[in-house]
Amino acid sequence: MSETASRIESAVTEIAEEMQARADRGKVADYIPELALVDPAGFGIAVIDNQGGVFAAGDCDTPFSVQSITKVFTLTLALGMVGDRLWRRVGREPSGSAFNSIVQLEHEHGIPRNPFINAGAIAVTDLILSGHEPREALGEILRFVQFLADDQTIKIDKAVAASEQRTGFRNRALANYMKSFGVIENPVDYTLGVYFHHCAIAMSCRQLAMAGRFLAHSGRHPTTGRSVIHMERARRINALMLTCGHYDGSGDFAYRVGLPGKSGVGGGILAIAPGKATIAVWSPGLDAAGNSHLGRIALELLTKRLGWSIFGG
Ligand code: GLU
Repeated sequence: MSETASRIESAVTEIAEEMQARADRGKVADYIPELALVDPAGFGIAVIDNQGGVFAAGDCDTPFSVQSITKVFTLTLALGMVGDRLWRRVGREPSGSAFNSIVQLEHEHGIPRNPFINAGAIAVTDLILSGHEPREALGEILRFVQFLADDQTIKIDKAVAASEQRTGFRNRALANYMKSFGVIENPVDYTLGVYFHHCAIAMSCRQLAMAGRFLAHSGRHPTTGRSVIHMERARRINALMLTCGHYDGSGDFAYRVGLPGKSGVGGGILAIAPGKATIAVWSPGLDAAGNSHLGRIALELLTKRLGWSIFGG
């Protein structure tokens, strides 16, 4: 094993041990009833370096609900389908508001600030759905994620999707509001059905880190060598993850961790060290901004130890 690989391995193992022992674990999301049932004691981490080395520890093989992390994959898919036309319906600025804020949409005439807040991701989902049946669009998204991760076993957790479908009143409000401005083309229930289901994709840290590799490889799928997305777009997705990937906590995440990242209310975070590695962490307890509390701390420790912050040092 190379010196770098053994440094990654010991960092991953020691950080997992430290995180598993900590008492401050944040608060599990409960606005989606099914997520409230998850045990806050879990902690997993997986790092895949650009040479293909896999370093994983803790509950790295436990599937969890990736929730908003799928917004990275749906954005990639939609950009491939419609190109820069996407930016007519969605902005590219950090929101500075909660992930499900309604106020901002009114000020901005139904155009969501960015593709990673709920409204933006619902608009992106609607673009993928246009011209398809909901079932086809969902199948397309799931197959895309399976392809990225080299793993056909990745599934949608139907209980989580049904739970959000029953209780997602705020997302329904966002979608209806956008529909009134013509930002949503399809029937709102169809668009939301696809959105709730892709948010309910379940993956382990190992699978999630695999799925994110193309962003550390300038848009290329490292196993097949095929281009998933143009290099320039991969760079831009990373930029959006850095500026918008943690909702109202994006500035703090950039300050502490220094990597493009995307969090989900299931407690996962996907982070990219461009040209170096892909990292997935999971711990279900969230901080006040709705991001994994221990996940963020673990990433901060890791980037510091390995000198991986894109800002140097
Ligand atoms: N499905 C969740 C929602 O729409 C995703 C939110 C998140 O992970 O931040 O509320």
